[in-house]
This record gives sequence, C-alpha cells and structure tokens, in this order.
Amino acid sequence: MNPLVFLGICCIFTILGISLLYKVQRVNELTKQIAALNFSLEEMDEQAKLIMRTDMELNKAQEELDKKISGLGILQKLSREISTTLEEKQIFKKINNQYMEELGFEKSLGFLWKTLEREFQLYFSLGYSQDEAAKIKTAINANKDYFLGLIKNGSTVSSEFVPEGTLSKSRFSQMFLVRSFIICPVLAQEGDQGLIFVGTQNIEASITKGDQEFISILANQIGQTLDNARLFEKTWRSQQELEIKVEERTRQLSQALEEVNKISKRKSDFISSVSHEIRTPLTSIKGYAAILLANKLGSLPEEIKSRLEKINRHSDELVHMVNDLLDISRIESGKVEIKKENLSLPAITEKIGDLFSEQFKTKNIEFTSNIAEDCQQIMADRGQIERVFINLVGNALKFTPQNGKISISAGRTNKMVQIDVKDTGFGIPEDAQENIFEEFFRVDNTINQEVKGTGLGLTLVKHIVQAHQGRIWVKSKPGEGSTFSFTLNAA
Ligand code: ADP
Repeated sequence: MNPLVFLGICCIFTILGISLLYKVQRVNELTKQIAALNFSLEEMDEQAKLIMRTDMELNKAQEELDKKISGLGILQKLSREISTTLEEKQIFKKINNQYMEELGFEKSLGFLWKTLEREFQLYFSLGYSQDEAAKIKTAINANKDYFLGLIKNGSTVSSEFVPEGTLSKSRFSQMFLVRSFIICPVLAQEGDQGLIFVGTQNIEASITKGDQEFISILANQIGQTLDNARLFEKTWRSQQELEIKVEERTRQLSQALEEVNKISKRKSDFISSVSHEIRTPLTSIKGYAAILLANKLGSLPEEIKSRLEKINRHSDELVHMVNDLLDISRIESGKVEIKKENLSLPAITEKIGDLFSEQFKTKNIEFTSNIAEDCQQIMADRGQIERVFINLVGNALKFTPQNGKISISAGRTNKMVQIDVKDTGFGIPEDAQENIFEEFFRVDNTINQEVKGTGLGLTLVKHIVQAHQGRIWVKSKPGEGSTFSFTLNAA
C-alpha cells in the first residue's frame, strides 16, 4: 500500500477517533447535566409542594383569624348588652339566635343550678323545640353530680375533649342532639352557678381552640354580670328596707312629736290656768295683809305685824313665781308677741348696772361692761331682753361671793351678736350644766339652801332667747365662776 494512502487512512482514523472521543466526552457531560437538571426539577417540585402546603395552612390560619375577629366582634356586642343588664333572667335573654349562629352554633342552652330546689333550671334555649329542651333538662338533672363536678372544677368539656368519666362523647351527642359541642361552667362569686352549652350538627364544623376561648369568655361575662345583678339586687333590697324603716321611724317620730306637742300644750294650758287661779287668791291675801299692816282695821301688836310682813314677803315671792310660770307657758305656746326693735346694747347694760348698783356696792362687786364697736345695736324686744339681763346678772350676783367680779361683754359673729355674762362666783358642777335651763332645776348644794330661788329664771331666759332666734349656753368651773352666753340678731 502506498505509504501516502496509508498515512492518509491513519490520519482519517485518528481524526475520527479524536472526534469520537470528544463526542463521548460531550455525551457524558450532557448526561451529567441532565441528571443535575432532573435533580433541580425534583427539588422544585418539592418546593412547589411545600409552597402549596404553606399556602393551604396560611389560608386555614387566615380563616381561623377571620373567624376569631368576627367572633370577637360578636362577643363584644353580646358582652356589652349583657353587662348593662341588672336582672338575672334578663341576662340570658340577651343571648339570641343571631349571635349564636354568627359564632357558628345553631343550638345553645343556659342552665343555673338552684341550690334551694336542688336542680338545674333552664334559663335559655336556642335551636331546640320546647320538648327537646325539656328532655335535655331532665337528662342534665339525671346526671347532676357530673355537671356539678364540672362547675366545681371549672372545667370545660367539648366534642374535641371529653375527659374520662361517666359520660362519653357519643352520650353527649345523643343527649344534646349535636355532632360538635362545648359545655362551659358559668362561675359567679356568690349565689347560683351554671352551665352554658353550644353545639352544631354541621358535619364540616369542628370545635377549635378559638371556639372554646369564645365560649369561656362568654361564660365569664355571664358570671360577672350575674354577680353585678345580684349585688345590685342586694343593694336595692337593703335600700328599700332602709327606706321602709326610715318611713316607719319618721311616722313614729312625727306621731311622738305630735303627742309631745299635745302634752306640752296641755301642760302650758294647765300651768297657765293654775297660775291664773293662784294669782287671784294671792292678790287677795296680799291685799288683806296690806290692809292689816296699814292699821286700817286698828293697830296690831308687833308680833302679828312681823308675821303679816312674812305673809306679805312670801306672797310676793309666790306672785313672782306664778308670773314667771305664766310667762314661760305663754312664750312656749307662742302667745307672747316678740316686738323686735333697734336697741342700743350699751344703754341696756348701763341700765342694768344702775338697777343692781346697790347690791354691787353691798357685796363690793366690780361690775364692768365691754361692748365691741361693731355690735352696739341689736334687734330685740326691749322688755323681754331686759328680763334676760336682769335674770342673768341677778343670778351672777346671787352666786358670787363678796369682792367678786361681774362683767358683760359683747362681740360679733357674722350676723349675730354674742353676749357673755361672766362672774367669778361659785360655778356650776359639770353634771348639772346640761340641766340648768330646765324648769325648777336648782343645783343641789349648800349655796342653794341659803339662796332663795324657784329654778324658773333660766328657763324663762332660754325661752326668751329662743323666741328671738338666738341660742344660749353656759361654761362654768366650780370655784372659778360661770359665763352665760347668748346670741341675738345684730341690727
Ligand atoms: P334660781 O336662781 O331661781 O334658782 P335659775 O333658773 O335662775 O333659778 O337658776 C337655776 C340654778 O342654776 C340655780 O339654782 C343655781 O344653782 C344655778 N345658777 C344659775 N346661775 C348661776 C351662776 N351665775 N352661778 C352659779 N350657779 C348658777
């Protein structure tokens, strides 16, 4: 063979060989690339599946969230309505079909355990006929220990979770005629507790955690409102009782007041007529004594004269007492007209000082008067107010030993003038001070055995001051002296 041809053939084979090698290599590379591509495709498929799964879960979560949001909205509306109710029965009436259906339950029931009757009573029923509801109530009461146990432990039962016990899930379904359900205790602080049941026959619906949360929120709200309603009822009842008591007491008091007024009037009338009756013969006695003393029936022996003078003196005292009594009863019954006029207080105290000047001198008593600038004028009945001063200063004089001091001072408090009659006398024991203005009251002490009196002066003074719309009181310390204070209208 021609070496050239041979060389040529060799060259061709070499080229073919190289090209084959290259193709094999290329095929290998392509196979690898296909394998890698397949792998990526598988991965992508996995990821697509994952995305689909996540999407489904997201959708489900979204659905659940939507349900929760709408459920919460319904609950909020329902809670608002329930919480404004203050009557036990009305609370349950607020739970209506619309609310419950929006929450996804076409059937619901509410029971309260009545301790006195020892049974569960039906408070509301939705989605059941009367007959069905009555049967469920009977079934619940037949298993009352179980349901009381739920209340006691505060445990919720649902078709998703029925604890081990006497009642199975199918028994519940049978009892309540539903596929899915929740039973939640209604817990109140005081009084009867209860149960709330919700359920559905819907095959697709299953009880979620969210549903259980809603129903327990609702049960809580009912429990709290029951507490509020009971508290309100209790408060309302005690207020009613209190009102009845107050009314009764007011009636009794006004009856008693009427009685007291009647007695007081009878007493005043009695004192008034007795005083009149006494005054007439007294005047005669005094008159006869005066005739005899004036020797109009011939001169009398000294002994008889002195007795007659005693009769005269005692008659004077009696007339004085009868007059005081008459005045007290007349002022008390409003028969004395108080004629208020503008009076000068310094002029009155000066007159009083003059009136008692002899007695002050005899007992060497220092009498002073100090009337503030802004209370020189008062509005009072001259005659009556002078009697007040005469009585108070007269008493101060009676109950202040030799060399003592008596003063009248006046100061202003708002529209009133306060007048103080102060002495440095024997004083009044504390336990006697509250009785000092009562009729015939005299302190039981040795001074009063020596000093004469009727115990009517301060009663008269009090009535006169009160008839002027003023007040009177005393402050005293035995051994140090007394201050009688009273108020009158400033002019
Ligand atoms: P009487 O002076 O006629 O006894 P009063 O009603 O004026 O009646 O006084 C009642 C009693 O109050 C007096 O008996 C006396 O015990 C007591 N009393 C009144 N004023 C004073 C006084 N200034 N100091 C001490 N005791 C007084």
